[in-house]
Amino acid sequence: MKKITVAIDGFSSCGKSTLAKELAKRLSYSYVDTGAMFRAVALYCLRNGLIKEDGTKVYKIKQFLDEFQIGFEFNEKKGHGEVTLNGENVEEEIRSLKISRIVTKISGIKEVREKLLVIQKKIGSDKGVVLDGRDIGTVVFPDAELKIFMTAETTVRAKRRLNELKGKGHKVTLEEVQENLRLRDYDDTNREESPLKQAEDAVVIDNTNLTKRDQISMVVALAKERMVEEKL
Ligand code: C5P
Repeated sequence: MKKITVAIDGFSSCGKSTLAKELAKRLSYSYVDTGAMFRAVALYCLRNGLIKEDGTKVYKIKQFLDEFQIGFEFNEKKGHGEVTLNGENVEEEIRSLKISRIVTKISGIKEVREKLLVIQKKIGSDKGVVLDGRDIGTVVFPDAELKIFMTAETTVRAKRRLNELKGKGHKVTLEEVQENLRLRDYDDTNREESPLKQAEDAVVIDNTNLTKRDQISMVVALAKERMVEEKL
């Protein structure tokens, strides 16, 4: 069967990465977490004082674009890549609420998006890849053979994210997580540069009441359909 590109976009904490990772595993494809790339840039900015923790001041980032490299290193145990910032694996550090609170200030910057777009296009150029993010099916790979747009009720998403963060030892409340999701969805949907929007040819999955198993069988079936169609 011919290799395809799978684009999974949607709101924050809809389970995009869980689904994308599992799909990539089932198809023996690579998985690319584009959100992790924006988070790694946000971490660079925070570490270097280019942004304050409350996200109020974004300072001269454009002048520092050549100072950092974003990449992935393969984690054999987990079976997928983990994001690196100048060669350092920052996969754990970027997941904190501290980074979630500032990341949309960084992802709204045109030059940052341009830099990451080049890397994303390069990684996906050979197909056989599942990418998740906000603009994969609309901007990064508008010709992707399969596009999924994910959504779920806000309270369900917030509870899932809260459990995930608590599981990793972060001390956060449901209200904090809920507020962060609300703000990020607003920023991601309303920014000028590559805003989050459903591609016209995307298949919508609202997973509020779906199990992981239901979701994976749906997308595996869709992917296989497209792989066969591609061959014809
Ligand atoms: O997917 P995740 O929640 O980790 O993404 C973090 C942030 O990165 C999003 O809130 C969004 O601002 C940004 N992002 C983006 N475009 C993508 C992926 C993520 O703007 N393709």
